Amino acid sequence: MVNKAKQGKAVAAGKPAQRQAAQKTVCIVCRLEREGIPVADDVFISTVRKLKSRLGRLAGNRLVVCPDDIGKAQQKRGRFEKYLMWCSILAFAVLLVLTLSSRTMAFGLLAGVVAGLFVMLMAMVSYYPKMDDAALKGYLARTGKSVGAAGSKAAGARGKR
Ligand SMILES: [Zn+2]
Repeated sequence: MVNKAKQGKAVAAGKPAQRQAAQKTVCIVCRLEREGIPVADDVFISTVRKLKSRLGRLAGNRLVVCPDDIGKAQQKRGRFEKYLMWCSILAFAVLLVLTLSSRTMAFGLLAGVVAGLFVMLMAMVSYYPKMDDAALKGYLARTGKSVGAAGSKAAGARGKR
């Protein structure tokens, strides 16, 4: 199967390979057990993982995006990044107004904390994971496929990085 090459690569990449071998790989878009591009581990994923393991509900699935859903996942991720950006701008604007209109430093600080929490909460609620860049590039190079047709939004989000 195709998986052999991928597994070899994972072993070369580092230690988690052994643990991953026993895990199920689940596509985050179609929720089916499929092979695909691994999802990048970021602050949100590791936080959720920590919370879940603390609650004793760690499923232990490895999250991937199957080849059929790469375009969809990129679009959704692009939407999330845009949304988060607007939330940050909004929070900053509100914070600025509150700080300028208040006379006390303490109130400004409080407003800052609230604005920060607001952005984090919005991010958590609407969170959408990102595919591992290196794995995605490798996949695209291997298959010669292009997902640029998935939408100019996703392409724009990628170009910025
Ligand atoms: Zn899928």
